[in-house]
Amino acid sequence: MAIILDGKKLKEKILGDLKSKISLMDKKPSLTVILVGNDPASLIYVNNKKRTAEEIGINSNIITYPSSVNEDELLNKIHALNKDENVNAILVQLPLPGHISKDKVINMIDPKKDVDGFTPYNFGKLFSGEEPFVYPCTPKGILLLLDEYNIEIDGKHVVIVGRSNIVGKPMAQMMLNRNATVTVCHSHTKNLADITKTADILISAVGENIIEEKMLKSGCVVVDVGIFKDAAGRTRGDVDFENVSKIASYISPVPGGVGPMTITSLMLNTVELFEK
Ligand code: NAP
Repeated sequence: MAIILDGKKLKEKILGDLKSKISLMDKKPSLTVILVGNDPASLIYVNNKKRTAEEIGINSNIITYPSSVNEDELLNKIHALNKDENVNAILVQLPLPGHISKDKVINMIDPKKDVDGFTPYNFGKLFSGEEPFVYPCTPKGILLLLDEYNIEIDGKHVVIVGRSNIVGKPMAQMMLNRNATVTVCHSHTKNLADITKTADILISAVGENIIEEKMLKSGCVVVDVGIFKDAAGRTRGDVDFENVSKIASYISPVPGGVGPMTITSLMLNTVELFEK
């Protein structure tokens, strides 16, 4: 049976250390989250972020707008936050309503306050092999989790399913930086199982239950990023956990694997930006 990559446990350990560190600081780091509209999932994510920040001593502030807000008003607000010395970290909760350009909004964030690492400056630094101000939260959290269990990355074949800007692409680059051989798959990939079978480490970020036991080799490490509700309303990941855990060496559960690590990275990034 596979060893569970326990993100919840690691989150408690890292945030406990971070809380102690923050308690010694005269001035506290601050995180500002912008939420547009009332998407129920976004509301839950944003409130979780605020609660976690406050639990460890980070000042956090949620700025809400109705979905009818115009783009200029949002851009002006970000401009003001960029100039505000009391704001160290800015996060714009995605998705945004269709009439607002996600790219324009992200581009407006000062890279020094870009806690998600999504601005072209930070993305460009990452892809050119230089240090961004911070690394994107989900891939950063996955690396923290793999490192906690001493899983070797150097020289391994890492197969990533999904090529989004928030998970797949930065994950691929961060794995290259760690000397892995990387293959990125997506919805146009032919014979997906032939590729996933060659993975030493499989990272799936799709949002559908697509990874089955027969697609993997025995002993591989499986990281499940996907999260969605099935027809019965249960929280599920991309991976058939029950059967895959019989052949994998390590596996991250959903929930309790990558999710807690993403929020942990957000807190680490807030403190890093404050310190920088
Ligand atoms: P996304 O932007 O929708 O990207 C999904 C990716 O999956 C795309 O690259 C898509 O390919 C690919 N894909 C779709 N169907 C496929 C198939 N049948 N075979 C192979 N690839 C396929 O999603 P995302 O934002 O990266 O998120 C992915 C999942 O991870 C979601 O469930 C999301 O909720 C979850 N997530 C979890 C966390 C966490 O902290 N736990 C963080 C971020 C995301 P194309 O590019 O060709 O369309």
